[in-house]
Amino acid sequence: MTERVPVLIVGAGPVGLALAGDLGWRGVPCLLIERTDGSIEQPKMDIVGPRTMEFCRRWGIADWVRDAPYPGDYPQDCIYVTGLNGYELGREPFPGRAYEKCPPQSPQKRERAPQDMFDPILQRFVRTFAHVTLAYHTELMTFEERANEVVATVRDVRTGATTKISADYLVGTDGGASLVREHAGITMSGNPALTYTSNVMFRCADFPSLHDKPKGYRFIFIGPEGTWLTIVAINGGDRFRMSIVGSADKVMHTEADIHAALRRAMGRDFDYEILSVMRWVRRELVADRYGTDRVFIAGDAAHLMSPTGGFGMNTGIQDSVDLGWKLEARLRGWGGDELLRTYETERRPVAVRNVTEASGNLGRMLSTRQRRPPPEIFQPGSAGDAARAEYGAWFTETMKREWFTIGFHLGYRYDASPIVWPDGTPAPPLETSTYSQTARPGARAPHAWLADGRSTLDLFGRGFTLLRFGADAPKAERLRGAAAAAGVPLDVADLDAPDVAALYQRRLVLVRPDGHVAWRADTEPEDAWAVIDVVRGARCYANMRQAQEQDTVADGAQTKA
Ligand SMILES: Cc1cc2nc3c(=O)[nH]c(=O)nc-3n(C[C@H](O)[C@H](O)[C@H](O)COP(=O)(O)OP(=O)(O)OC[C@H]3O[C@@H](n4cnc5c(N)ncnc54)[C@H](O)[C@@H]3O)c2cc1C
Repeated sequence: MTERVPVLIVGAGPVGLALAGDLGWRGVPCLLIERTDGSIEQPKMDIVGPRTMEFCRRWGIADWVRDAPYPGDYPQDCIYVTGLNGYELGREPFPGRAYEKCPPQSPQKRERAPQDMFDPILQRFVRTFAHVTLAYHTELMTFEERANEVVATVRDVRTGATTKISADYLVGTDGGASLVREHAGITMSGNPALTYTSNVMFRCADFPSLHDKPKGYRFIFIGPEGTWLTIVAINGGDRFRMSIVGSADKVMHTEADIHAALRRAMGRDFDYEILSVMRWVRRELVADRYGTDRVFIAGDAAHLMSPTGGFGMNTGIQDSVDLGWKLEARLRGWGGDELLRTYETERRPVAVRNVTEASGNLGRMLSTRQRRPPPEIFQPGSAGDAARAEYGAWFTETMKREWFTIGFHLGYRYDASPIVWPDGTPAPPLETSTYSQTARPGARAPHAWLADGRSTLDLFGRGFTLLRFGADAPKAERLRGAAAAAGVPLDVADLDAPDVAALYQRRLVLVRPDGHVAWRADTEPEDAWAVIDVVRGARCYANMRQAQEQDTVADGAQTKA
């Protein structure tokens, strides 16, 4: 017996869970398989970025993340030290997450919720959909892509029994060592080994009282050799994650190395319990392709980056949201033939940008290895104080770029997408620590608060949304008619809010199901069919323009003749 599902998702890490949840929310049945039992031995991600939180808001689970058990009053400072009982060189202060405000550009703020808090939230979300099946202890063994289906062989890891599953589409969210990517013959480009790092989870209930530094989220340790260690307060309580940063030289940190590192960080012996050790290679890799006709990859399967910046999972969840509505559109029949190909066109450049930035952040954190600290910073006295002040100020300034990244979390755009209809305005620069909202086609549709307390983002969702600004906004009947004829779900939202209209800059703005602007103008398009065909992926914008130009030339030649 072969089971039949519209979408088979392989790997229930945060990205697979997000895709299953997004499809479930869209009413698309899917099967998510995961070879483990879903428990997290060592949480990797812990920062849920503001864009991911915007998706959680749309899914109705933002409060669940807000209510995650990471204590709201635990200060989130990043502190640069020679040791926990040594000298503080500098710090970037951040309040506890309960006190952090939403940025003006978003109805949500980032949240600190490590993977062993966040994955269960996504699991709970996925389980609210009867048409989504979450199968743990189930491993993908192999698959075959055919013209009309993908046939996968999966195995129950407890019994060894194998089953065949036929799916319209298969998505590999199966992590860095992705079998789906490998089996689809997709290669990756970049740097396969930036550092050989060891992450050690340890429990120490009285950790803050063992040293003289105020509580913080992340300690970065600088020795005579430069930055060598970090410790983060992973649950804001008794559990911490130490990373022996390492280098590009292959190294295997032994148990003795781990104990020595903990002792060196504290400056003396102390009691702790080692919970788990994860030895891993920090990579800078992006898949050369994001899929085939029916097989796609997302998350770490598609891009591997240094955690410096907290982009990894957040980039993967953006992948899931981009892919989710496109899969739905194809399955329901209104998505055009080009639509799924644009998943790669839109998402791959974002991954390249984020992967590059993450490596840049690593380079900044390790820049102390080139600009070594002067020996005085480890010595007491006024000469030491002066050296610490100077070196600490430089490092604090250097590290700011990693901590302030709203331009990456919210500012990614699909400017060159074939399913975005450009409006002829120049592309604004991509930003890092700042983010200027724009409703230029390809950009995330801006947030503004509406009079009824909703965000503009609350207007967008499962289908397209046409925003009409002002009482005299064109009715857009042709556009609505073309959408209806093509089966494209389209809601219309009339807004009489001059400040929001000023932000969107046009009287008609068409927003996609993922919250990105597809088209905007002050008047109805002459060829509403063409606009709808482009945004649903039935025609590529560039090809359509080329065909139109050729028609014009042919018409001109005919007229002359
Ligand atoms: C120390 C560290 C800190 C980080 N901090 C952050 C952060 O703050 N913010 C952030 O955004 N990112 C962060 N990241 C990156 C983030 O953790 C990853 O990007 C994210 O976990 C990727 O999620 P994923 O679902 O794509 O893959 P994974 O989490 O790797 O999940 C893949 C899943 O697929 C399963 N699987 C694999 N093969 C099969 C198969 N054949 N059949 C069935 N199941 C299979 C695996 O068991 C696994 O559960 C950090 C990473 C590290 C190492």
